[in-house]
Amino acid sequence: MKSSKVRQKYFDFFTKKGHKLTPSSSIIPSDPTTLFTSAGMQPMIPYLLGEAHPQGKRIVNSQKCFRSQDIMEVGDNRHTTFFEMLGNWSFGDYFKKEQLGWVFEFLTKDLGLDPNKLYVTAFEGNGQIPKDRETVEIWQELFKTAGIEAKLNERIFLYGAAKNWWTRADSPESMPEGEPGGPDSEVFYLFDQITHDPKFGKKCHPNCDCGRFLEIANSVFMQYQKKDKGFIELPQKNVDFGGGLERLVAACQNQPDIFKIDLFWPIIEKLKEDLRVEYGDGQNSTASLRVIADHIKAATFLIKDGVTPSNKMQGYVLRRLLRRCAVKIHALPQGRPARSADGSLNDSRAWEANDILPKLVDPIIDIYQETDYFQTGDWDQIRQTIAEELIKFKQTLKRGLRQIKKIDKVTGKNAFDLYQSYGFPFELIEELFLEKGQKVSREEFDKEFKKHQELSHQGSFL
Ligand SMILES: [Zn+2]
Repeated sequence: MKSSKVRQKYFDFFTKKGHKLTPSSSIIPSDPTTLFTSAGMQPMIPYLLGEAHPQGKRIVNSQKCFRSQDIMEVGDNRHTTFFEMLGNWSFGDYFKKEQLGWVFEFLTKDLGLDPNKLYVTAFEGNGQIPKDRETVEIWQELFKTAGIEAKLNERIFLYGAAKNWWTRADSPESMPEGEPGGPDSEVFYLFDQITHDPKFGKKCHPNCDCGRFLEIANSVFMQYQKKDKGFIELPQKNVDFGGGLERLVAACQNQPDIFKIDLFWPIIEKLKEDLRVEYGDGQNSTASLRVIADHIKAATFLIKDGVTPSNKMQGYVLRRLLRRCAVKIHALPQGRPARSADGSLNDSRAWEANDILPKLVDPIIDIYQETDYFQTGDWDQIRQTIAEELIKFKQTLKRGLRQIKKIDKVTGKNAFDLYQSYGFPFELIEELFLEKGQKVSREEFDKEFKKHQELSHQGSFL
C-alpha cells in the first residue's frame, strides 16, 4: 500500500468517527522556546490544556515533524529527522476504550495488518500511580476478537515511566504541581524476518533496539494531574494519538527498511543514478545514501517553511544538514565515474554536492504532490538556497579536508584548531574524523574550548 493511500485511509477512518480534519502546522512553531515542531501534539498543547479547539472535540491530521536530536541516529533502517505524524485527538470526549478499539480496527481492518504481528505496551505503575490495568484489559479483549490470547510478557508488555508515561517534564517526579500527565500505550509491528541481536540484551521485546520491533502507534491518555501529595484524576481527560506515517507504510509492506518505501525510494534511486553507487545490505554506501535522502528532504521542508542557512537557531540546523550531506557525498567510494552536466560519463568529481543535491528537490516534489502542504512552492528558490549554501561550503571543506589528511590522530587540541581556523562546527569535525575511522572526544574538545576562553579573558586584562 502506497503512503498516499495510508494517509487518506487514516483521514477517512477518523472523519467517519466524527473527527474534523485540520491542516498541518508549520514545521517552525509559533512558540519561540522550541526550534521545531517535533510531534503532532505540539500545536495541540493549548487545547489539551483546556482551551476550546475551534473545530470541536475530535480532531485528526497529519503533521510535518522534524527532530534535530536524531541527526546522528540517521543511517540505520528506521531513523529519520523528518517525518509525518498522523494524529487524532479527543479533547475531553472519548477515552481509552474507543481509542484503542479504533487503533486496532484501523491497523487490522483498514490497513490489513496481521494482528499476530502486533505487540502492545502499557504503563506498569509506580509508587504513586497505579498500573494501567484498564489498557491491559481492553487490549486483551481486542486481541480476543482476532482469536489471539494476549498474555502479559508475550503480547502485552509493561514498562515504567521512562517508556510509558507522558509528561512535559522529564519524569512523574519532576512534574510541577498542577501539571497534567498520563500513561500511554504503544503498538509495535514485528518484522519476524529479522533475528534478534544479543548485543541489545538477552531477550527481545518491543522496546529492544535490534530493529525486529518497530513502534507504529502511540496513544497518550492524559488522565492525571500532579498535586502536592501525589496525583488526582483529571475531570477532563484527553487522548493524543501519534503514528509515524513512514513506519505505518513500512509495516503495511512488511518492509523493515523505511528508505525502500515510496516516501524515500525515488530520492535514493536518483542518488544511485547520479552517484553511480549501490544501495542495499552490505554496501558501504547504504548508510550515506540514507543520510543524504533524509537530510535533503528535511532541508527542503525547512526552507519551504521559511528557514535560511545561518549560524544560529533553525538556520544553523539547516546548515548542518546540508553540510553533512556534502561530507557524505565526498566520502562515498572514490573513482566511480559520475555523469557530467551534458549527461556523458566522466571520471572527475562531477558529483560535487552543489550539483547533485538541488536536483533531489524534484523527486521530493513528486512524492508529496498529493499533500495539501506541497501543492505550491517556490521550488527554484529552494534549489537555489541549497546550491548557494553548498558552493560557499565547498572551499571551506576542501581546505579543512587537506588539514585533516595531515592529522594522524585526532585530539581535543587539533579538533579545536579546526573549529577555530575553518569555522567547522564540532558535529562536522566529528563527522569528518568518523569517515577516517576516528572518534573525537567531546569532553577533550570542550576542555580546549574552555582553555581558549580563559586565555582570551586573561588577554583582555593585559
Ligand atoms: Zn531484539
